[in-house]
Amino acid sequence: MKALDELTFDNRFARLGDAFSTHVLPEPLDEPRLVVASDAAMALLDLDPTVAETPVFAELFGGHKLWAEAEPRAMVYSGHQFGSYNPQLGDGRGLLLGEVYNAAGEHWDLHLKGAGQTPYSRMGDGRAVLRSSIREFLASEALHALGIPSSRALCVIGSSTPVWREKQERGAMVLRLARSHIRFGHFEYFYYTKKPEQQAELAEHVLNLHYPECREQPEPYLAMFREIVERNAELIAKWQAYGFCHGVMNTDNMSILGITFDFGPFAFLDDFDAHFICNHSDHEGRYSFSNQVPIGQWNLSALAQALTPFISVDALKEALGLYLPLYQAHYLDLMRRRLGLTTAEDDDQKLVERLLKLMQNSGVDYTLFFRRLGDESAALAVTRLRDDFVDRAGFDAWAELYKARVEREGDGTEEQRRARMHAVNPLYILRNYLAQNAITAAESGDYSEVRRLHEVLSKPFEEQAGMEQYAQRPPDWGKHLEISCSS
Ligand code: AMP
Ligand code: MG
Repeated sequence: MKALDELTFDNRFARLGDAFSTHVLPEPLDEPRLVVASDAAMALLDLDPTVAETPVFAELFGGHKLWAEAEPRAMVYSGHQFGSYNPQLGDGRGLLLGEVYNAAGEHWDLHLKGAGQTPYSRMGDGRAVLRSSIREFLASEALHALGIPSSRALCVIGSSTPVWREKQERGAMVLRLARSHIRFGHFEYFYYTKKPEQQAELAEHVLNLHYPECREQPEPYLAMFREIVERNAELIAKWQAYGFCHGVMNTDNMSILGITFDFGPFAFLDDFDAHFICNHSDHEGRYSFSNQVPIGQWNLSALAQALTPFISVDALKEALGLYLPLYQAHYLDLMRRRLGLTTAEDDDQKLVERLLKLMQNSGVDYTLFFRRLGDESAALAVTRLRDDFVDRAGFDAWAELYKARVEREGDGTEEQRRARMHAVNPLYILRNYLAQNAITAAESGDYSEVRRLHEVLSKPFEEQAGMEQYAQRPPDWGKHLEISCSS
């Protein structure tokens, strides 16, 4: 276990030089204080979790102090936002403080979000508010606990610094951890600004650090692109299987490592709704829940375009062609498991689609349905769940198919079924109303609810005594919360 001053830095991205990022110092927050920290994320840096409570922790992650070896840099990138190319984005309010490596030899980027203005701030103030910082913290750690690749969050630091959004709020910072903060938009930036040398340097950097096994392949860049396609197909399959809606799938928010990245007005589905739009400024529904699948491919095509200096168009097209079949295979595999199935049959896809349609028409809670389905034998569970469906006849017909399907593969004992299904069907997810309750308390200075919710969500598959209220459907006020897009 390390103390805060024992972190070891190796700032590989900073060494790429000024064409890739700009040196900027964090702008400190007034009266920085710890809101919440993640012990699991601290462990990635070998940090002793008790250091989170020390004043120097809030000073470091509130922008007052820096390690001598840190090299804070704002990265430059661009990207396609809602389908249109924006030639210059970049870290407008976040800084890559440096890269730290742990005892296992893993490097982790330390990125401080809400750290003040940079050359890429455009009209923005460089700040992040407490509300959105808490949401990012909770979501990153909750996704990780669900087994969904994500950037991680070490802590949220609150403050008394006023920040103007629709009203006056308070500034906060999140310390984000990821193995890399390189986005699709980094490649797009060097492609569209016609800087082939820097683009090649970036590609070498990513290949050497993050896809070294692709070096062994006859065409390393192509192998790397294929790997990025595969990882994104798998990531989006997980989002769809668990009801996560990202909300702002612009190419500057897409990670070259295939992790969930840059949290905005995201939401987990409460009731199943394929057409759900969590981002209120997304009037066309470009990033609706079901559109995440084709948008994943669209974004990969944008990356492919930026890689045309290195890889032939035919090879890129072929690699892009892997996306949909891979997505479908992963998705179906996850949904079979969610249904408690251990074998594959040809009609499983239809079984899933039919169920989702029934859930959609009746507004059935997506998470609780699967959890309850695993509570008891298939026959008993469907009898109990039937009441949630408006179209009883439709549900009965599905239930007959499901029971027969379960019978064909043999279900083991009821205990085995329950253990198998509960291990993949969470009881607790980050519902918007739960986040909102925690935020409301935190805004009045009480951080206990954020901390409790974080704890509960760190073991989403385990029933936790006394935590029943976190497994409830939303109350009426919490059903269609408008999550502000300003953050
Ligand atoms: P996002 O929608 O959060 O992914 O941000 C898109 C771009 O706007 C990125 O370049 C951000 O750094 C930048 N940005 C977002 N909010 C602010 C802010 N308050 N101040 C400066 N830049 C911002
Ligand atoms: Mg972003």
